[in-house]
Parts: sequence; C-alpha cells; structure tokens
Amino acid sequence: MSVWAILVAAGRGERLGLDQPKAFARLGEDPLLAEPLRRLDACEWVDSIVLVAPVGWEEPAILLAEEVGAGKVSACVPGGETRTDSVRRGLAEVAEDALVVLVHDAARPLLTDEVVERVLEPLREGWDGAVPGLPVPDTLKRADAQRGVRESVSREGLWAVQTPQAFAADVLRRAYARDGTATDCAGLVEAAGGRVRVVDGDPRLLKVTTESDLATVGAWL
Ligand code: C5P
Repeated sequence: MSVWAILVAAGRGERLGLDQPKAFARLGEDPLLAEPLRRLDACEWVDSIVLVAPVGWEEPAILLAEEVGAGKVSACVPGGETRTDSVRRGLAEVAEDALVVLVHDAARPLLTDEVVERVLEPLREGWDGAVPGLPVPDTLKRADAQRGVRESVSREGLWAVQTPQAFAADVLRRAYARDGTATDCAGLVEAAGGRVRVVDGDPRLLKVTTESDLATVGAWL
C-alpha cells in the first residue's frame, strides 16, 4: 500500500516565547523540525512526505529537508490558522492513488518505526484509522472557572492521544471535506462516523510545548 505522511509544522509555538516558529527552535544542533523529518524519511513504511511549514518559512523548510537528505519530501506548503487548516492544506498535496495517510506533529520529534507499524496494523484489519495513546494515570477532576471541583471523572477507558495517526486515505479525505475543526485528525474522522482504534503510544512522543519539554526531548535525543 502506498503510504503518504503529512508532517504538520506550522504552529506558532507561542508558549516557547521565541522569535521564530516552534519548528525552528533549537533541538540539539539542529532546528526541531530536522528530527521528525529525518525519522519519517528513514521510515521504511513511508513512501512520500508532504511538509506543512509555518507561513513565510517554506523556503527554510525546503532547505532543511535538503540538508537532512529527506528525499521523500514531495511538496512543502504553508500552514493555516488552525491545525485542522494545516492538515487540510497538506492533504490537498497527497497523491490521488495514496491508500494510507499518516499525519504527524513535528512538535513530537521522537518518532519511531515501531509506533508507525503499530498505527498501520489496524488499517489492515479494516479499521478506518488508528491513533497511539497512553492510558491516563492521574485522577481526573472537572473544575469550574474558579477551580472549584465539580466532579471526579472516571479515568476508565480514557487515553491521552498522540501522533502519528494513520487513516485510510479516502476516509480522511471525506472527513476533511466536511466543515469542522478538531485538535487531532481522529476527531474529524470520528465525527464523520469513522471507526478509529487506539494502539500503544510512546511516552517519548511528548509534544514540545514549553521550554522544559524542549529540554526533556533534547536530553532523550
Ligand atoms: O498547536 P498544537 O500543539 O496542537 O500543534 C500540534 C502540531 O500541529 C504541531 O506540530 C504544530 O506545528 C502543528 N500546527 C500546524 N498549524 C497550526 C497549528 C499547529 O501545523 N495552525
């Protein structure tokens, strides 16, 4: 099956407080984007990559892809206002004959082949999509705006969901052809009636949001 990956890197990363977008924050020697690009490109399951760059940063993103030798990058497009818009723009560049689309957050640099394999497996069994997830270990409470606890929420069956997320290409296209927005692709696929399975995630797929996340991922690297 032909597998296309969309690497979304167009977030502003305001919580990092840098002058440049999060994708170009330093992680070790390189910009953060270099690591997930290298790893996706080296992944034997991935045939082609669409890179979704921060607006105005398409050229540095293409140069970086060349520098790291990411030869599978077939298009680089500017992102949109929201993650949903960014994925939609990337999806428009995916070849018509793609069977599977894998969507990954550049902000989760430590992608592994194992997690890619795990999200692809349910598609072979007929699921519409698969997402990596970690069981939520903490006790959960819902609180009001003043932080007064309203209720305890059972954590049974709750998962903290990560990327890469894999979908049958036609299912993802139909989900994105509808209106709506969600914080991940699976949210739109679920809203369109798709069946999505959770597979084991990886704690190292931590999403870089703050400076301390950047330091943690840098140390793991
Ligand atoms: O903002 P959030 O943490 O959900 O970002 C997750 C991923 O989506 C990041 O890799 C970020 O670069 C990407 N993103 C994007 N376009 C946006 C917002 C986020 O490509 N408008």
